[in-house]
This record gives sequence, C-alpha cells and structure tokens, in this order.
Amino acid sequence: MAERDGLRRRYLAQQVELGGPEVVLPAAGAQAAGAAGAPMQAARLAAGVARLDIVATRAGAAAKWSENAPPIPGPGLTVVTDLPALVSDALGDSASLAAVAELVASCRKCALCDGRSRTVPGEGNPEARLMLVGEGPGATEDATGRPFVGQAGQLLDKILEAIESPRPSTFIANIVKCRPPQNRKPLPDEMAACLPYLHRQIALVRPKVLIALGSTAAEGMLGVRKSLGELRGKVHRWNGIPLVVTYHPAALLRNPNWKKPTWDDVRIARQLLDG
Ligand code: SF4
Repeated sequence: MAERDGLRRRYLAQQVELGGPEVVLPAAGAQAAGAAGAPMQAARLAAGVARLDIVATRAGAAAKWSENAPPIPGPGLTVVTDLPALVSDALGDSASLAAVAELVASCRKCALCDGRSRTVPGEGNPEARLMLVGEGPGATEDATGRPFVGQAGQLLDKILEAIESPRPSTFIANIVKCRPPQNRKPLPDEMAACLPYLHRQIALVRPKVLIALGSTAAEGMLGVRKSLGELRGKVHRWNGIPLVVTYHPAALLRNPNWKKPTWDDVRIARQLLDG
C-alpha cells in the first residue's frame, strides 16, 4: 500500500514538473481517512495534519500518461538518407555501438575535437524502441562522457519516467559528439561531419520512434531550418521511422511554459511506440 502510494505521489509530482495544473494531496498521516472516501480537505483536517507535502495534477490511482493525451497528428516531412553509402563510406566495418564509440573517441573530423575533454558518443539500450537525439554535449557531458547528465538531463529522466519509457530502456545521442565552445550551436560543417556516426547508431539500434530535442536536433535530422513551432505537432519520417520534434530540456528549464507542450509531444511519441 505504502509502495503504491509512493509511486502515485512520484507520478503526480512528475506531472507538476511537466507543467500540469495543481491539486493537493494530504500528507501521509491523512491517508487512512482519505482511503475511507472522505474528501481530501476533510481527510487532512480529520488527521490533524497541517502539512501538505504533495502538489500534483490530479489525484487518483488510475492516473496515466495516456489520459487526455493529444491525438497522433498528421504527417510532416519525409527524409530519406542514403544510409548504406553514408555508413560504409564513413565508418567502414564498424558494426556495433561500441565500435562507433571507439571511432568517435579518436575522431578529428571537425574543429570541435580541439576543445573537448571527452567525446560523448551516446548511450542506452542497444535495442531501444525509443531513441532521443539532442544537439551536443554541454559542460557536464563533456566532463563525464555521458549525454544528458546535467540539470537538463535530470528533467529528461523525469519526462521519460512519466511516459513509462525510463531512460535505461531508451538510447540517447546527440547530433555532434564533442562539446561546442561556450555551448554554441554546432556549425553546419560540424553537424555534417558528425552525422554519419548518429546515422550508424540509428541503423544499429533500429528504434521504432525518434524524438528530436530542440531545433538544432531537428535541423540535423530533417535537414531543414525551421522553427519548432513549424516542426512540432507533426509526425515526420526519417528513413521510415516516425520522428517527433519537441523542446530541448534545457529550454524547459529556462521557460517552464514549454513544459506542457513538451508533455503533449512526448505523449504523441509514446502513443507511436504502442502503435
Ligand atoms: S564533433 Fe563529431 S565529427 Fe567533430 S571531432 Fe567530434 S566526433 Fe568528430
């Protein structure tokens, strides 16, 4: 019972994190009265508990990511790359994710190699059904060699948990594998030099759904420079794989108003996983 309640509270807290409207659950001491059917406020008073420790979108054990999820939108852009040629020209016989990471570790194909501490090839489940693509490593990623491990990464972890696709079940990579100086956007020639690694990773993982996190990731995947407003709310196709575009988690930290649309986007992707 306590475990189920804990899970429910964590789920509801995630919904708030993602920008949903707030409701208040009683503190743990009020659970008995609440379970007996008393309204929440009455339960709180009956238990004499003044502390309210959870703020969430809604109360109810049936709460799920799918509730009020937006319908799957119509088609967007279709991108077909010459994967076999691209892969074989750039990567030779590297036939595993580890082999790609090894190539990345010694890569000097663009100027970003000069400023890196570590390369960040990407990581995750080699058989992931959901693959996420970001822009490039930041300071924490450059220091650790792992993608999305800073504050934005922690928010991404929460988002993935909320759609019941926890991070270990996914694969996460970036358009460029080395940190751009001052976290600037990668230049077109840097993206072009690095993209074959990502393409090979996608070919190896063969995800069912792709999510592009932010406009640079979308540009790298779709080959167009358009605003997120133009690219969100559609199901694009990248070599036949459905691709959903949403905000980069770092952008959500700067502007919490984007959490709700992001929540809609990831629930569209989650539905595509089930389709
Ligand atoms: S960003 Fe990519 S292409 Fe450039 S040096 Fe790093 S691994 Fe190589």
